[in-house]
This record gives sequence, C-alpha cells and structure tokens, in this order.
Amino acid sequence: MKYRFADRMDKPHRSFVTEILKVTEDPEMISFAGGLPNPRFFPVEEIVDATAKVMARDGQGILQYSTTQGYLPLRDYIARRYREKKGLQLSAENILITNGSQQGFDLIGKVFLNKGDGILLERPAYHGAIQAFGMYQPTFETVPLLEDGIDPELLDSSCRIAGMKLLYTVPNFQNPSGLTYSDARRGEVARILGRHDLMLVEDDPYGELRFRGEHLPTLRSYLDSTLLLGTFSKTVAPGLRLGWACAERQVIEQLTYGKQATDFHSNNFAQRVLHQYLIDNDVDAHIAVLTAAYKEQAERMLSAIAAHFPPEIRYTRPEGGMFIFATLPDGLSALKLFDLAAREKVAFVPGQAFHPYGVGGDDCLRLSYSTSDGETIAEGIRRLARV
Ligand code: PMP
Repeated sequence: MKYRFADRMDKPHRSFVTEILKVTEDPEMISFAGGLPNPRFFPVEEIVDATAKVMARDGQGILQYSTTQGYLPLRDYIARRYREKKGLQLSAENILITNGSQQGFDLIGKVFLNKGDGILLERPAYHGAIQAFGMYQPTFETVPLLEDGIDPELLDSSCRIAGMKLLYTVPNFQNPSGLTYSDARRGEVARILGRHDLMLVEDDPYGELRFRGEHLPTLRSYLDSTLLLGTFSKTVAPGLRLGWACAERQVIEQLTYGKQATDFHSNNFAQRVLHQYLIDNDVDAHIAVLTAAYKEQAERMLSAIAAHFPPEIRYTRPEGGMFIFATLPDGLSALKLFDLAAREKVAFVPGQAFHPYGVGGDDCLRLSYSTSDGETIAEGIRRLARV
C-alpha cells in the first residue's frame, strides 16, 4: 500500500533529531545533548508513599474516569502557589491540567491556529514547541534573542507582519540558550504585544530552577491575556506527564474542549498521587536541593569551558535551568563539529534544531549539564575542546 500521509507529517527535522538520539545510545558517549532532569533527584520513596496513601483512601475513584480540566485540589494547589510566589490573582478556574506542557503547545495549535497563521518565535527557539505548533502548518517568523530577552525593536516590527497571531517565549533560562529576560524587557514585551493585539504564550518550565540572582515577575503579571504554561517535569518528575495551562477563563474553556477531544483528561491516577506528594512534602526544600546540584554542574561546565575552549567561542552563563549555548567563530559548522565530536565520544545538539524549517543556527551548539556529574562534565568539555 502506498500510504498517503497528511502534509503536516512532512517534517524536515524529524530525522535530524533521531540521528542525534542514535549517537547518544553508545554507552561510551558523554552526552550533553539530552535535556533530561537528573533522575538522582526523583522522589521515588515519597511517590511510593503517596501512591499507597491515595490508593488506600479512594482506589476506586482514582481508577475511574475524571474531569477534563483536571483534579480540583491539584488546580487549587497550582493557583495558590502562583498567588503566593508570583502575586498572580488566579484561581483553579484559570488552570487546565495537561499531559505536560508539550500538550499545551498542541492545544494552543488546535484552539488558535488556522493553516498559515503566523507565530513569532525567539531565535533560537525550543524545538519541541516548533514541532508541536508545526503540526498546525503555521507560518513561523523569528526574532533574535539578546542577552536580556527578545529584541524589542524587531519584535515590534515583526508584530506588524500580516497574519501574526501569537508570540511564543521562554523567559527564564530558555531552552536552548539558557538566557533570561530582564524585568524591564518583560514589561516592554508585554506592552508591545498588548499594542498589537497578539497573544503572548509564556512557557516557564524552568523558572523555579533559579540558582543565581533574583526571581523575576512572570510576563503574565504585566499582561492578563498571557497564556502561561507550567510543568511538574523539572521540579518533580517528567514521567508523570503533568503540566498545566493558565489563562483567562474563556481561553481555558476552549483549551479544555480541545483536550477533551484528544484524551478526555490527563492521567487521574498520576494527578492524585502527585497532589498527595505535594501536600505531604516540603516542595521548596526539594527544589533547593535540585537547584544546588544544577548550580554546581553549571559552574563545573562553565569553568571547564573557560579553561579549555578556544577564546573565540562565545557562550552564555545561565542563572538557572539546564543549558549553556555556545557560538562558534565565523565559518565553523556545528553540524560538522557534531560528527567530529561523536568520534571523540562527546555529543551536543547542533543549533539547527532550534530553528523553524531547519534553516539557520549552524554556528551554535546547546550543551546540557543536567545529568552529568562534575568529572564527566570536565572530561566531556576537554574532548569537545580538542575537536
Ligand atoms: N518547554 C520547554 C522550553 C522545555 O524545555 C520542555 C521540556 N524539554 C517542555 C516545554 C516540555 O515539558 P513537559 O511536556 O515535560 O512539561
């Protein structure tokens, strides 16, 4: 049979990411390519306890179908945390539980995008979002990401391009660049978007993983119409597949309707276990342990880079999260470097992955320090420096 797949399946960079994953299967390989949370900190015992507790209390309820918007006490917990930590005036009504923030992208595509509608992305941008939005066949435009956030002048002019509907941003320790928007830039971006009537999508999976500097206000605190995505993947465990979308009620209603058509609801069992875990444990203490470890790993990588990389390579210095982004001197290709590095048994993600249509970014590489210990980080950077 000659299958006639939909046009949306015709994706240039799928094979590219698959190639990368293949290389990292080699057990000798030091991989800075993944972006996985460090499993050393998954709260296994606590999750076992929480599971036993909720099953003993209401096993039948937990194994039953549930509501699409998600377990109310979990939504309450998320809203309360935003009120207390971020001063956002939110309630459970503003929260939809999703199957990770990745599902948030898909639902945004489903609810907001007609074929050909415009999305503004940071340059570089998170590849998972490009992939998810890409399924709805939008037109992507990119705006450069500077040290302190997206370029405001180019953002303003790009908002004027016909058909632009939304801007997708990761303001804290962005994947892949590790960069963070300054407070001033957050306000400025919100004002620009408000002026042009574009929806702002604020994706914040890493915000709680700050290990230097001060926590900054969310973009949503500057612009109420912002759709804010969050996740438990980086602070608790990604295998739970639980995240959320936070927005005005009319948007949550539409997203909920879109989600119902996809999967009825996120895993009820996981939601109940996670909620029990959250109320029985000191989550902030857990996050403090996590960020202390990431800080040490980040510093180890930065000092190895400073000691071994040629001086003409520029790199970012993250204040949190999991990523360092390096820029090669003119004329060097990260893709060629990737092949050479694979022979030395060290891997990273070449910059093309973070550009829509797979065009651009060949002078950049993303390095993740989240899952390697100090010694491995130092050895991996030495190998890369040799290449
Ligand atoms: N957004 C960004 C910027 C990410 O880096 C990730 C995970 N790599 C996600 C969203 C998706 O996270 P999840 O679906 O596990 O919540």
